[in-house]
Amino acid sequence: KEGLTMTDCIFCKIISGEIPSTTVYEDDQVKAFLDITQVTPGHTLVVPKKHVVDIFEYDEELAQAVFSRIPKIARALKNFDPRVKGVNIVNNNGEVAYQSVFHSHIHLLPRYTKEDGFK
Ligand code: 5GP
Ligand code: ZN
Repeated sequence: KEGLTMTDCIFCKIISGEIPSTTVYEDDQVKAFLDITQVTPGHTLVVPKKHVVDIFEYDEELAQAVFSRIPKIARALKNFDPRVKGVNIVNNNGEVAYQSVFHSHIHLLPRYTKEDGFK
């Protein structure tokens, strides 16, 4: 879609397929893919397909599109691996909040018991 993609944005390139990624979930407005650095196994990023920098640029429609998908993506991660016992949901906005990629994204961090040997 014209005007929605930023040429120098790494996540726009993932959405267009120019940069490969492992898709966890996708629909017309949202894509979820594995983070290149897995803080915990299954670490997933949920992004709007429309290029927006951060939460301050969301309107209600975009918020609905992105945030309404989070529970089912979290459930998919849990169902995919029975060792997943919990999930952290993290969203960094702005350099001062440790955002490093300036295309908005929500981190889903599956969590495991110590016995499973992961963080
Ligand atoms: P932030 O620090 O902005 O909240 O998170 C950015 C995330 O994007 C980091 O966890 C980083 O590992 C991930 N990331 C950066 N470049 C790529 C990439 O090319 N592919 C994927 N899948 N993840 C990336
Ligand atoms: Zn982008």
